[in-house]
Amino acid sequence: MGSIGDIYKIVQTAFNQTQAIEVQAFIFDLQTKINELQAQTSDLKEQNLNAKSDLQEKIFQYQQQIVELQKIIDQQKREIADALDWKKTKSEYNFDDRLGIWIHKTTSKPFCPKCFDRKAETPLRGSNHNGIYYCPVCNLGF
Ligand SMILES: [Zn+2]
Repeated sequence: MGSIGDIYKIVQTAFNQTQAIEVQAFIFDLQTKINELQAQTSDLKEQNLNAKSDLQEKIFQYQQQIVELQKIIDQQKREIADALDWKKTKSEYNFDDRLGIWIHKTTSKPFCPKCFDRKAETPLRGSNHNGIYYCPVCNLGF
């Protein structure tokens, strides 16, 4: 196959049968190259789409991880706030070692130690069970 320069020379002059075949062959080769390039372009497009899809998938995964981490952080913040609140609440009580119950410092009212373990403040009532007091939630005497 001739160079494109040769082909131009041929087509700019009146050409014979042999030259016509050469031009035809050149055009055929060009078409083949164009087809190859189109196939390569198509491959590159597909690769780009795959790469884009992979990136989008990764971005989506990272976004999900961020959401999960944010949930954990929020939960930990709540737990810390609750722990601080409970610490403050607990500081308002003294533990009565003799009775094994909590006594409110200001009101001197008795509170259930079992409920305290669950971070709940349940006032004890005068007992009609075994002990001096009983808890209406735990139904235990103290
Ligand atoms: Zn209780």
